[in-house]
Amino acid sequence: MFVDTHAHLYHNQFAGDREAMLQRALDAGVTKLFLPNIDLDSIAGMHALAAAHPHHCFPMMGLHPCHVTEENAAAMAEVERLLRAGGYCAVGEIGIDLHWDKTWLLQQQEAFRQQVRWAKELDLPVVIHCRQSFERTIAIVEEENGEGLRGVFHCFTGTPEEARRVTALGGFFLGIGGVITYPKGGLFETMAQVGAAHCVLETDAPYLAPVPHRGKRNESAYIPLIAAKLAEATGHSVEEIAHITTTNAERLFRL
Ligand SMILES: [Zn+2]
Repeated sequence: MFVDTHAHLYHNQFAGDREAMLQRALDAGVTKLFLPNIDLDSIAGMHALAAAHPHHCFPMMGLHPCHVTEENAAAMAEVERLLRAGGYCAVGEIGIDLHWDKTWLLQQQEAFRQQVRWAKELDLPVVIHCRQSFERTIAIVEEENGEGLRGVFHCFTGTPEEARRVTALGGFFLGIGGVITYPKGGLFETMAQVGAAHCVLETDAPYLAPVPHRGKRNESAYIPLIAAKLAEATGHSVEEIAHITTTNAERLFRL
């Protein structure tokens, strides 16, 4: 049995075949699917999918860093209201993204820290997006660490040193996705050094499809391709990887 810890299955790229796509995931042994929120516009579709599949699809709540701007008060208030109302498995996805736009770095840092604090208060894990911002992101996590803080660095693509800094936090995991199958991604070599003990699996569907589907739409049924590559990198069997990563995901999300 596998867990996809990060999949945007409510995305409109699945509008034409969402139920068939979910069935393919279940047929592939991917039975738990965690849905990260993006902004206020993604909430309704995410709720609808989770309500239709309450035993398989688990929603998160958070404001994605790419949707943080100069004026976040209304969006942050709504995220806080929903988190306090309950029903979410994590605060996510949240973090810092300096790939597209550095204009709102200060606002991104503030929104990230605030959402991390809500996670601690509500005893929820954080699902962290960091892109070209590892140092700034982990600095905030290190400052806020403690009080039961736990989470995952989603789409981890860093160095062995960065992986060790994540695992040294205590309650944090590395989210391993399709990048591990990319020949020049560097992640295969990193994980060969780091090992699988602190890993969870994710697709980030519909993005970042693993080889041989690279460049096409990603979906949760491809999790075994990622598991096989992580197994190859770390010297485990696929069955061992399934056990390690599913156990980690259950610890993280307290299923
Ligand atoms: Zn995502």
